[in-house]
Amino acid sequence: PPGEMQDKALARADLAVYKAKADGRSRLVMLDTSLEHAAARRRAIAQYLQDGIAQGHLFIEYQPIVSAKRAPVGFEALMRLKGPDGVSISPAEFIPIAEDGGLIEDLGRWVLKEAITAAAQLPEELCVAVNVSPHEFRRGDLSTYLEQILATTDVAPHRIYLEVRESTLLVADMDVERQLAELRAIGIRIALDDFGTGLSSLTHLWQFRFDRIKIDRAFSAKLDQDDTETAHMVETIAVLGRQVGTDVVAEGIESEAQLRAARAAGCDYFQGFLFARPSSFDTTLELVVEQAETRLIS
Ligand code: C2E
Ligand code: MG
Ligand code: MG
Repeated sequence: PPGEMQDKALARADLAVYKAKADGRSRLVMLDTSLEHAAARRRAIAQYLQDGIAQGHLFIEYQPIVSAKRAPVGFEALMRLKGPDGVSISPAEFIPIAEDGGLIEDLGRWVLKEAITAAAQLPEELCVAVNVSPHEFRRGDLSTYLEQILATTDVAPHRIYLEVRESTLLVADMDVERQLAELRAIGIRIALDDFGTGLSSLTHLWQFRFDRIKIDRAFSAKLDQDDTETAHMVETIAVLGRQVGTDVVAEGIESEAQLRAARAAGCDYFQGFLFARPSSFDTTLELVVEQAETRLIS
């Protein structure tokens, strides 16, 4: 607009460029107010995250991963951010912001420490899984950090799963594969998260021995629609998993029909709202005690 300050105009042009890049480059982007609102929200969240740990805005919820008999074999730690208005902000939104702003390394280490401390309070047969961003490999000392926490909490390394996405393996310059191998050598287990929707490269399964493959919930969502093609895909991934010696988890199981189909397809473990939504550690402990009691009775 006429009279607009040059720096503001440049900042707006920059927003449009950012959007064009995010959408895959080589395109024309018209700036509108929604882009400006989105950018303002991103900035506000980044600011809010800055001292999120110290201020107690961040917390962790745990969701069980269960066996075919529905008994929990472990829990996935999922990070949560309580917004200034008390409304929870999704990790799908705040994690990319934390990654862009260089905050994820500290957040990631905080989650690892909290989750391993939580594991120390759970029965020894239960594992805890933590999601790890590619950026957390940048410092190159993840295994040293984990070894320290495992030693101080006295948690056995095999009880910890680190969940990485395939894209993490592709990040250049961070020596991710070497670091993952180092972590496995300590005894920590590595899971391949969201398998089936990204690259799903066989090379990754073949060259890197994962302990677990997690089939993306996009597959589970279609499993109760009499979709034989999806069932065959899941079955094929389960067979592949067995061949390379990893166990296979079906994520996002919401219905009995999906569970039946995922079980029939050969998945070993299951996770989803059908069993439990992510919840506080206290609720998680109650669930564990309840399960132990029913096992004693039955
Ligand atoms: P993910 O690792 O694939 O986590 C599973 C997501 O599926 C979680 O979403 C969980 O709440 C959701 N979910 C579980 N069961 C069901 C179901 O039956 N139906 C549906 N529709 N959803 C289900 P959430 O907590 O929103 O997390 C989203 C993603 O954010 C995670 O996907 C993970 O990639 C990332 N994330 C979460 N916590 C962390 C963290 O501490 N560090 C990092 N780097 N990433 C995290
Ligand atoms: Mg995960
Ligand atoms: Mg996943």
